[in-house]
Amino acid sequence: MHTPGTHDNDNDNRGVLSKLVTRASSINRALDEIGDKWCLLILQEGFWGVSAFNELMHATGASRGVLSNRLKWLQSVGCLSRERGAAGQVRYHLTDKSLDLYQCALMALQWERHHGRDRGAEDVVLRHRGCGSEFIPRVRCGACDGEIGAWDVDYAPGPGATHDEREKKTRRRSSVPLGRVSGRRHYLGLINIVGDRWTANLIALCFHGLTRFEQFHRELPVATNILADRLRLLLAQDILVREPYQVRPPRHDYRLSARGEALFPWFLTLLHWGDRWCDARGAGPPLRLTHRSCGEPLVAQVTCGACGEVLRAREVEFRASPAQR
Ligand SMILES: [Zn+2]
Ligand SMILES: [Zn+2]
Repeated sequence: MHTPGTHDNDNDNRGVLSKLVTRASSINRALDEIGDKWCLLILQEGFWGVSAFNELMHATGASRGVLSNRLKWLQSVGCLSRERGAAGQVRYHLTDKSLDLYQCALMALQWERHHGRDRGAEDVVLRHRGCGSEFIPRVRCGACDGEIGAWDVDYAPGPGATHDEREKKTRRRSSVPLGRVSGRRHYLGLINIVGDRWTANLIALCFHGLTRFEQFHRELPVATNILADRLRLLLAQDILVREPYQVRPPRHDYRLSARGEALFPWFLTLLHWGDRWCDARGAGPPLRLTHRSCGEPLVAQVTCGACGEVLRAREVEFRASPAQR
């Protein structure tokens, strides 16, 4: 099976190379399937009902070749279905699997509202069909209904705690140029930060308490220059901050900033999604999460801030605020 980007002729991805073996992780599996910035943009447009090739090309700013590659990829992993409409036009629709990413999409939007540098997310109004209210999504522990802080979770090996063999690709990082993208840039800031597997992998490792270059490299054995480049990006984006722990030679601890820590709900909902949809071997979750506050197994639920009910896919309406049009 090819991976997104392998057959691109954009110079965003330079294919080839060997396999990378890392600890099994639902976040990594999810990122390997959808964590490419173009895939994230396509899925975001899908949530807004954009489904025709040309519209997707216009909305995402992807070239024909890149878009066609990612559409094939997303179909191969079960995140899009290709259908021919009544007028014969081909449409790409979200599937049950990709619709189940709505929790992640909501968390991305929340992050962008509070920590994004682009104002697009402010325009989005969310309405819960269940209660009819406009709402703010909240992440709650399914057992105690309490909030879930980034450092309020214990991780232990689960039944699927094995290793995964992953495609190792050298990628040249590039951000999505704002000018090329349509009006819907509601979580483009987040996509630009996480839409490159290694950067998102690094943030996930930080949530597990890792702080040092050697620790990151042990878990993510990609070329050290790639790792250094991604750390620089995360520092520049104010996702990580660093503090020296040794002067000669200079060595640093990397820690999440407040802006970085606020990405936790996005990662948590992505981890749950990966548990549900990316366990090809059916071995069960690689990690068992416990909510420290209540001591119960952690299942994060995204609830409606207005009525408190757990939100379900298709019950959430996104729309652009009329005032902003
Ligand atoms: Zn709890
Ligand atoms: Zn509600």
